[in-house]
Amino acid sequence: MGRELAIDLGTANTLVYRQGEGVVFNEPTVVAMNAATGEVEAMGDEAWQMIGGRSGNVVAVRPLRHGVMTEFDITQQMIQVVLRRIGASRFPKPRVLVCIPSESSEVERRAVEQAVRFAGGRGVVLVDEPLAAAIGAGLPIHEPIGNLIIDIGGGTTEMAVISMGGVVSGRSVRVGGFDIDAAIQEHVRAEYGVVIGEKAAEDLKITIGSTFPAPKPRAAVVVGRELATGAPIEVSVTNDELRAAMSDPVGRIVQAAKQVIADAPPELMHDVLETGLFLTGGGGLLRGMDMLLAQECEVPVHVTERPLETVIVGAGAMLEHLDDYRTAFQLVRRKRPGEGRWSGVRQR
Ligand code: ADP
Ligand code: MG
Repeated sequence: MGRELAIDLGTANTLVYRQGEGVVFNEPTVVAMNAATGEVEAMGDEAWQMIGGRSGNVVAVRPLRHGVMTEFDITQQMIQVVLRRIGASRFPKPRVLVCIPSESSEVERRAVEQAVRFAGGRGVVLVDEPLAAAIGAGLPIHEPIGNLIIDIGGGTTEMAVISMGGVVSGRSVRVGGFDIDAAIQEHVRAEYGVVIGEKAAEDLKITIGSTFPAPKPRAAVVVGRELATGAPIEVSVTNDELRAAMSDPVGRIVQAAKQVIADAPPELMHDVLETGLFLTGGGGLLRGMDMLLAQECEVPVHVTERPLETVIVGAGAMLEHLDDYRTAFQLVRRKRPGEGRWSGVRQR
């Protein structure tokens, strides 16, 4: 049995695709770590439950920041937990395709490869995440035309023009949904002197946040702690306030998109003006984000069918049709010759 795996290790969410099966894992990229021992006790939904139910030594850690692994050991343990939870056998070890931000440095690429290998994968190959996103969006990436994909994740926004099977030009900015949440938290603190949690800010964003004024003004109540007294307190926040609060991170994403369009080869942009820009990632679901990008970039914008799954679906398609995507794979150093060979994949 082959049973190769593809992993989308996002700042916010981790998804795994198993060859021949589909998406078998989809949970938040967070671990419950024992602060005393440094041991990862649970990952994803289980981690949230554990932290909610127990206090003291168990703390929540998000091992990635802005798409980059900041905690090697924790990430490696986390991947180990994921592999165990999906029942990936230790023998034979699964081969693993991992999606990484396209502007990852060589050091970052090696770190991801190592973390996956230490966690029990063999023959790790890395794939540029925007390429997987484009494949997941069903774009004709092999054709000599320009495809523009924008993926707004938790900590990064990845943008790329793709043509003839590869990334032609692109940009990755370290702004995403978490930054929008942080801007909302900051607004509530500055305006009302109330501290609200990340999750509360995210809920506000998802329920009433929008990049455009709503036809009818809307408000939502959020519970926080008064800065001065530490006492629990309710505040009511309107969608107009949220729009102002979110404008900085949202504006930075829009500016970066304009820049990518300005920098792309004109003949490829000509295609994009017709076919449009494809928007994906959880941040692409922000109300009005598509309209704002369409207005500012002057191109049609299409949100992919399931923005939170587009990358893993694309990575899965690559697993299922290895031969078609061979040129996209990047192998990082092999320890012993022949170890974890991917047939037909040449080493860089
Ligand atoms: P990553 O690939 O970095 O893990 P995801 O593509 O999973 O990120 O997207 C996660 C981000 O999407 C989070 O910041 C989350 O708040 C945001 N998000 C999810 N659904 C919505 C929504 N309906 N509206 C606005 N933002 C959303
Ligand atoms: Mg992502």
